[in-house]
Amino acid sequence: MRRFPKARPHPVLSPVVARAPGRVNLIGEHTDYNEGFVLPIAIDRGTEVSAWPSEDDAVLLESVAYGETARFRVDDDPATLQPPWARYVAGVLSRLRRNGLPAVGFRAKIDTDLPLGGGLSSSAALTCASALAAVEVARLGGAAIPPWLEEPGRLAAICRDAERVALGVRCGIMDPYTALHARSGQALLLDCRDLSVRFVPLPADRVSVVVADSGVRHSLAAGGYNERRGECEEALARLNGPGARLRSLRDLDASALAAEGKRLPPTLLRRARHVVTENARTQEAADSLARDDLARFGRLMVESHESLRKDYEVSCPELDALVEIALRARGVFGSRMTGGGFGGSTVSLVEPGSAKRLVETLATEYERRTGRKAEVRVVRPSGAGGVRRDPAAQG
Ligand code: ADP
Ligand code: MG
Repeated sequence: MRRFPKARPHPVLSPVVARAPGRVNLIGEHTDYNEGFVLPIAIDRGTEVSAWPSEDDAVLLESVAYGETARFRVDDDPATLQPPWARYVAGVLSRLRRNGLPAVGFRAKIDTDLPLGGGLSSSAALTCASALAAVEVARLGGAAIPPWLEEPGRLAAICRDAERVALGVRCGIMDPYTALHARSGQALLLDCRDLSVRFVPLPADRVSVVVADSGVRHSLAAGGYNERRGECEEALARLNGPGARLRSLRDLDASALAAEGKRLPPTLLRRARHVVTENARTQEAADSLARDDLARFGRLMVESHESLRKDYEVSCPELDALVEIALRARGVFGSRMTGGGFGGSTVSLVEPGSAKRLVETLATEYERRTGRKAEVRVVRPSGAGGVRRDPAAQG
């Protein structure tokens, strides 16, 4: 077995504390990797990476959630590391190095109040907090920080790529972008083609956001996700016969799909139809929110869920049950599954005065129907991650 040096804490420096939030996507699901539109908020739960610079190239990690430690060198291949969660951090370091940031060792404690695998993007919270910490540790060590780091979206793209190289999950830009660029009290309509953003207020006196974690974790989630991506690529390739030059399914609208969809087998037609209709719904939802039409916003959420259930086939009975229960409750504008699907969470928008009641109803009714316990809570639209020094903490 390979022997690793101990990561020696720097004798002088205090820890760098980097924090990145989880997110909940209000609408716009499975559109980000099709260069489409998404409308997420960052939430008031997240992941904190407290890092102490070390004097060598060893990285020592402790995950409180897993009660485990991991140890590797900054230039180790991320894809083979154990335990697997260490690959997220190693993936970030490898992509940062590839983009010209000098590799520096550190020792870090990882703490989170997000559910892992619950559809609230604990993975991007981890990659983004790790990236922020690693950059700051390098900066403190006197490294020249490449100027591209200031460009919006660049660090988010590195975190997205880290998940791909380290875990083989071909995720989109939405999760890390939200963790790094969200604003408190606002949803962000992100155009995943050019990363242009429109912030739309989500006023706390008008609407509360309730997230219900179904507790279901399907092992096929990563495989199913990659399969859907593959199907979108295949649909695009078939539509791009002679004459057509679509860059992504985002370039298609409803009338083009009606005219050209005949060329697709039924399954691919349904996948493409979800992407096309979801992009239209997401833009309309942002407009509805901007003009305070929450009733319309809610109906679009329900249509989104139906499309994900029937056309994209990424929901599951437990998520459907949570949506059904929410839609019967008082004061609810809309409800849908959120995140990649195959388990995970739902998001519901509700009048603030009815939020507490909805939380209780979802928990009790879901257990009665499925025998499972859902973790249900109100989340608040929160700001982006960041980094601070913590002189009080001990290394
Ligand atoms: P989601 O992003 O919806 O939570 P993912 O499957 O994409 O679900 O990411 C969950 C994975 O991220 C976990 O299985 C684990 O490997 C990793 N992870 C997230 N947070 C932590 C943490 N605090 N400590 C260790 N690993 C974590
Ligand atoms: Mg994730």
